[in-house]
Amino acid sequence: MSDPDCIFCKIAAGQLPSNRIYEDDELLAFHDIHPAAPVHFLLIPRLHIPSLFDVDAGHGALLGKMLQLVPRLAREQGCEDGFRTVINTGRNGGQEVYHLHLHVMGGPRPWKKQAP
Ligand code: 5GP
Ligand code: ZN
Repeated sequence: MSDPDCIFCKIAAGQLPSNRIYEDDELLAFHDIHPAAPVHFLLIPRLHIPSLFDVDAGHGALLGKMLQLVPRLAREQGCEDGFRTVINTGRNGGQEVYHLHLHVMGGPRPWKKQAP
């Protein structure tokens, strides 16, 4: 299921360009267009889930797969010394794009950005 007005659904469908670092039948990872760290990529499900608020028990396997993938992709992108993971949720969570996504940020310090 996808939302025709959602930019991440369009990225997943290849209708908008992105710098992809991983994809399979359920997940996609690509570099954030405005990086807040030397390494900053987003991991999304292809399925249009608007936010973490909309996750239910049926999404358990998908979310588990996402989290399992993070350390592998983080290492591949050069975050051997650690990384930050962030899921902004809803208005007070500072969410800007309403398609569930997990930020992975890392790379050599110092990088001190408030966002995302
Ligand atoms: P949020 O605040 O919703 O957690 O973060 C949305 C993130 O998506 C932001 O860090 C923003 O830079 C990134 N972003 C927004 N539009 C695009 C886009 O078209 N392409 C890519 N690669 N990243 C985007
Ligand atoms: Zn979407």
